[in-house]
Amino acid sequence: MDMSDIAPWLQTPLRRALDALTAGRLGHALLVCGPDRIGKRAFADALVRALLCRERVEGMACGRCRDCLLLAAGTHADLRVIGLIENDKTGAMRREIVVEQIRELGAWFALTAQRGGAQVAMIDPASAMNANAANALLKTLEEPLPGRHLLLLSAAPMRLPATIRSRCQRIALQPPSRNIALDWLRGRGHDEALAHTALLAANGHPGLSAHWIESGLLDLREAVRRDLDAVAAGRAQPLDVARAWVGDEHARQRLAFAAELAVDLQATNLGLESRPGWRARSSGDAQALANWFDAANRLRELLDTPIRTDLAVAGLLRDWRRFVAA
Ligand SMILES: [Zn+2]
Repeated sequence: MDMSDIAPWLQTPLRRALDALTAGRLGHALLVCGPDRIGKRAFADALVRALLCRERVEGMACGRCRDCLLLAAGTHADLRVIGLIENDKTGAMRREIVVEQIRELGAWFALTAQRGGAQVAMIDPASAMNANAANALLKTLEEPLPGRHLLLLSAAPMRLPATIRSRCQRIALQPPSRNIALDWLRGRGHDEALAHTALLAANGHPGLSAHWIESGLLDLREAVRRDLDAVAAGRAQPLDVARAWVGDEHARQRLAFAAELAVDLQATNLGLESRPGWRARSSGDAQALANWFDAANRLRELLDTPIRTDLAVAGLLRDWRRFVAA
């Protein structure tokens, strides 16, 4: 494999990590953080390949040795990936990484590597560890063993205990410049105008833009924007819009988009950005918008509960009409 196999905005941080590995400066525990879909897993996978390959070429995995082949086949014995798994008793997916998973990892790290090289574990998403799991991990972090590498992946590193964060080398992945993002999206076959719109909506985040375009979510976001416009202008009734919003499997995503659009409006309102669209009725509505953002996010959490979500969303949209002029 070579650098061109990985997204351009991951190349510099990856090169830095590989150089540190070659120089023996790479930490035993890394915290790879960045927003969803920025490429944390692709970055970590490339690093894992380099950690396990024993015939590295310019710091990168050779792709041909026995370790590389085992890894590519998904059967390398010295890699563990810990994530959200099913609950044995109920068969449902767990929402947390539990202490047993981390204890098992500690025990595994204490064994000798089967292939005689490094042992690598990835925890993804690390912020899903519950308090007991995080405590158990602390023990592993406090007594690092030679040749053992731990990669924690997280979009929300602040949710991890400070004691864990402070023991990890942090690698922050960020969106690239607008031009690099645009090039990358074009390279994936996306129409230039659409790529522009998506990047604007996703704050320059190319991975998220691609996801929104490819999954149709960009259209959904535009529809939410139009609905909010129509409600603000009095062209649509809050209850009608609310019923449509909660009527299918996209309810959660619509509320997330609505909350983000409120942040956009807030930014415009404060003169931070000038985006065409809405304006608040008065500049004194900043607090009201912040509250609206919180309310939209809270409502998202309530979608799984038995409350009448259409009525709750209608209330939210009535507030929107009060704060926002179309
Ligand atoms: Zn190799």
